[in-house]
Order: sequence, then C-alpha cells, then structure tokens
Amino acid sequence: MTDAAVPNPPFLPFALPEIGEEEIAEVVDALRSGWVTTGPKTRRFEQDFAAFMGGGTAPEGLHAIAVNSATAGLHLALEAVGIGPGDEVITTTHTFTATAEVVRYLGADVKLVDIDPATLNIDPAAVEAAITPRTKAIVPVHYAGLAADMPALLAIARRHGLKVVEDAAHALPTTCGGELVGTLGSDATVFSFYANKTITTGEGGMLVTRDAALAKRARVMRLHGMNRDAFDRYTAKVPSWYYEVIAPGFKYNLTDIAAALGIHQLRRLPAFQQRREQLAALMDSALAGLPLVLPPRPSRSGDTHAWHLYVVRLADGAGIERDRFIEHLYASGIGCSVHYIPLHLHPYWRERYGLDKAQFPHSQHAYERMVSLPLYTRMTDADVLRVAAAVRAALGVPLQAQALAQAAPTP
Ligand SMILES: *Cc1c(COP(=O)(O)O)cnc(C)c1O
Repeated sequence: MTDAAVPNPPFLPFALPEIGEEEIAEVVDALRSGWVTTGPKTRRFEQDFAAFMGGGTAPEGLHAIAVNSATAGLHLALEAVGIGPGDEVITTTHTFTATAEVVRYLGADVKLVDIDPATLNIDPAAVEAAITPRTKAIVPVHYAGLAADMPALLAIARRHGLKVVEDAAHALPTTCGGELVGTLGSDATVFSFYANKTITTGEGGMLVTRDAALAKRARVMRLHGMNRDAFDRYTAKVPSWYYEVIAPGFKYNLTDIAAALGIHQLRRLPAFQQRREQLAALMDSALAGLPLVLPPRPSRSGDTHAWHLYVVRLADGAGIERDRFIEHLYASGIGCSVHYIPLHLHPYWRERYGLDKAQFPHSQHAYERMVSLPLYTRMTDADVLRVAAAVRAALGVPLQAQALAQAAPTP
C-alpha cells in the first residue's frame, strides 16, 4: 500500500465552536433590522441569561449585564466594588492573564497565590495567608469548569470584609453545592463567550450580580459613563437626545449581532453540556490505565463540571516530557494546548512582583506536566478514540497492554 492510499485523517483542532442555522438566521435578522449595536437582542439575551441562572425564571433581584468580553466584565465588576490604587486583589497564579490584568487597569496590585494540587483551583488556605490590611477582594477562577471551593472562599471573605468577584469564564454551567455558579452569593460573577468557551458570541461576556448598586454602576460604566444608552433614548416614549455623563466610562457594550448568537447558543447549552459530559466520560475510559493523572471529578455533593477544558497531567514515570508529548500529538494530527503558563512565569508579572516558581510549587508542578486535550461538542466518539490512540502512541503504550491493564481485576 502506498502512502497516497492511506491519507492522514484531517487535523483535529484543539477547539471549534458549534454554530447552527438558528444562530445564523438571528444574526441575519439583526443585520436586516437596523439595530446592529446594543439593542433589543442584547436585552433579550440578558433576560434569557438571567432566567437560565434561575433554571427558567430569573432569580429575584438578579441582574445580567452583557459586555463585549469577560475581561471587560471583570474590569467593570472590580471598578464597581471600588477597587483602586493602593488596594490588593488576591487571585490564582494558574489562570489566564485577563483575570489579573484588570486589577492593574484600576491601579491596584495583584497578589498571586498557589492552587490545590488535586483540583487545580485556588487554595483557600493560601488566600487567607496572603491577606494584608490592603486586601480588598478575591477573584476565584473555576478552573476548567470545576467550581473553586466557594464555601471556604466566601467564609474567608466574610471574616475579613473582602469582596468576591468570580471569574467564571470556564464555568457555564457549573454547580457548586447544587447552586449554579452565578448565584452563589459573591458580589459579581463574570462569564465569557469567547470563541472556545462553552457557548460563544465570537467575543462577549456576561456580568451577573444581585447587588443593585453594583449593577447600576456597571451599566453606566459599560457605555462611556452615560446615564442612558442609545436604545433607551431612541425607544423611549418621548424620544430624547439628552443624556448626562457621570463618569469617564468604558466602551464595553455587546452588539446585537453578537447577542443574536448568544440567544441561540444559550438555548442549546443544556444539550451542549450533556454532550461534553459524555465526551469527558468517554475520554476518561479511553485513557484509563495510562500513566496520566486524569481531570479531577467534582468531590463535593451538588457540584458539577462544565467541562470547558479536559486537562491531563503526565504521571511520574510516564517516560516522556510534556513538550515532547505535545509534539507527538501534533505529529498525529491532534491539536492541544496548555492551560496555563502560570502568571508567575510571565515576564510582566514575574518582574513586577519579584516572583519565583518556588513560591507556587503546586501550580509549577502541574504546569510542567499538563496538556489540555481537545473536548468540544463537534467531536465524535471516534474523534475521542483517535485522541486516546495518539496519547497512547506518544506514551509508547501498546494498545494491547492498556487493554490488559483495564481488564485486570482491581485488587
Ligand atoms: C477566556 C478567559 C478570560 C477572558 O475572557 P474574554 O471573554 O476573552 O475576555 C478570563 N479568564 C479566564 C480564566 C479565561 O479562560
């Protein structure tokens, strides 16, 4: 057989959005309607999102504020809780830089702390140890889609009088103690609709809060610090050109073109979630018995996983270094990634705060061994098995040996 007779299967990308005809038709409707910026579809998306948070009916007093990225939402939330120069905000080193950069936008300082090595989420004991008289807020990240230890973090915040703003970019939908992230009692929660997240609007985000004053401030600061937005002014019973600028705000509003996508992505979220759970379970069984640490499962009752990321770690004795492992996967046509290069290793954060990897042993240990494998709703079961076969080949484990290990009775 010649090589031409066995074409390589196409490259399996690390992530792909799933966008259907309903989304496309709604975008076309926005384009034809004349409202291409923030308008009726954004309002509807906000209302639908608030209702989703309540399992069908918006929880009493819950505000959902659409923004053009989660980064914008985190900035607005921290601004609205009053973070400013001289303040410190504690977050995990094991996150994307957006989580921390917004603190610097406000002239405040970031205190990075280590993670729990089992869950890869921010370690509440490390948070408590990092509190100083300047500390004003904690920003937990629900890493990969598994809730951080919110009961412990909220208790610490209460004891020390701190604000809590959740970076829930991975956590739609995630439950913690039976409650959806977004309704847990923090000051604000911010979701992302970036292209690779569990639902997407291309770029976009949602700030959710039960604090009416925080919501009002975020709405004003979302659009230049104006006390009325264009939709308000042009659709009011008495059309009005008049508005007042009450602060130097930002330009963080979501467009109706993006919201059109979000309305339908949100409707499909329960089906997406079911498929992600199936894919994660299939991946778990296909990778069983290999020298890998598989993703942690929720350990508290009432907790569920959003499966935004499927992160494995090479076990000691895997016999291959992470970077070589990734090269092998790419050579087999499998896209993968690393979440994350911890913030303490990036020049800006390292130099600004004089950080060293020895201060973050758990994050560092995980980083050196971790790989995010592809997991998204457009993957087939066969794609999962293909990923697992490539992983097995990279580890040098013959198919049969793994099958035997799986078949062996547990002692
Ligand atoms: C994606 C992501 C963000 C930023 O989201 P955007 O919508 O792209 O601004 C923030 N934090 C984490 C942990 C993320 O994964």
